[in-house]
Amino acid sequence: MNCNIAVIKGDGIGPEVVSEAMKVLDAVGAKYGHTFNYEQLLMGGCSIDVHGVPLTDEAVARAKAADAVLLGSIGGNTSTSPWYKLPPEKRPEAGLLKIRKELGLFANLRPAFLYNELKGACPLKEEIADKGFDMMIMRELTGGLYFGARETKEVDGVMTAVDTLTYNENEIRRIAIKGFDIAMKRRKKVTSVDKANVLDSSRLWRKIVEEVAKDYPEVTYEHMLVDNCAMQLVKDPAQFDVVLTENMFGDILSDEASMITGSIGMLASASLNETKFGMYEPSGGSAPDIAGQNKANPIATILSAAMMLRYTFDMDKEADAIEAAVQQVLVENYRTCDIVSEGTELVSCSQMGDLIAERV
Ligand code: NAD
Repeated sequence: MNCNIAVIKGDGIGPEVVSEAMKVLDAVGAKYGHTFNYEQLLMGGCSIDVHGVPLTDEAVARAKAADAVLLGSIGGNTSTSPWYKLPPEKRPEAGLLKIRKELGLFANLRPAFLYNELKGACPLKEEIADKGFDMMIMRELTGGLYFGARETKEVDGVMTAVDTLTYNENEIRRIAIKGFDIAMKRRKKVTSVDKANVLDSSRLWRKIVEEVAKDYPEVTYEHMLVDNCAMQLVKDPAQFDVVLTENMFGDILSDEASMITGSIGMLASASLNETKFGMYEPSGGSAPDIAGQNKANPIATILSAAMMLRYTFDMDKEADAIEAAVQQVLVENYRTCDIVSEGTELVSCSQMGDLIAERV
């Protein structure tokens, strides 16, 4: 198969980790007879430096023309980087919001999986970590509070800020369908998370999820309030399979889920539209503190590339091969600095990429 991938390496550790993912993809291509063609595009701080904007329309058009986008991370040190002296719409993150919107990426998938070999890094009590967990947080990505109208103004002499949380039934239905579809490929359980005891948008969310659930009789589903979900994630994460939720709740819960896996450097993510097109990126940021030192953990990006093979290119066995290779290097005790522990061997970002590519 011939696959056209738009590659956005981005800022900070982005270029380092994406290069390792490309190395692993090329190993997959060599073994299974696929060709991965890469077109490199700029987004984030590196685009600001060259074009004065975090994402050009030209880059958007090129990303749209590809089969999928592989992204590193964008942004710099938010206290010291000159990018953060710019108005919000010119900052690196504006590029990310723009590309998600332009590509219609409304479904964000973030797997949170506890590797047996990394249980020691899980901050939960041993008896909870011992049970393991394997969940997929499905977050709505283009609606809700982050995209609603907002303003700050003086009302009767008092500074007042307003953010608007809007969802329509179509936006809820399409993410719910994706959530139930993914559950069908997993353990067939959906936990829909809302705040229906307070918010109208959540009551509509619940109603539409119930309608969609009727088309998936094999999937068990439940509703859970977001505050309870935040507690359950640390109390009994093994109960979750697919966690389906709106934008802001998903933002917070997916970070909590990533924290309990022990390392942000291990967590992949995918953002999908209604077709097979997707953008695949590690869950973490650009890690300016370790950028340019060949120290970053490339596994999250490599696993994101595996998700790309699975969800965009329907290459399940190739995706399985990458995931098995990652598992294998962990079994063999190779670790980057974020997950190193006594009795394991410290390797660099590029060495980790080599080790995984060799095991594909
Ligand atoms: P961060 O995720 O970049 O870093 C948090 C901590 O995790 C740091 O100590 C970092 O060294 C470590 N870390 C992250 N990824 C790692 C990896 N692959 N290997 C080893 N260690 C890793 O979060 P932050 O410091 O809050 O943000 C830094 C910048 O990244 C900011 O500009 C922020 O806006 C941006 N950001 C971008 C994205 C994205 O591109 N999607 C997401 C989150 C944050």
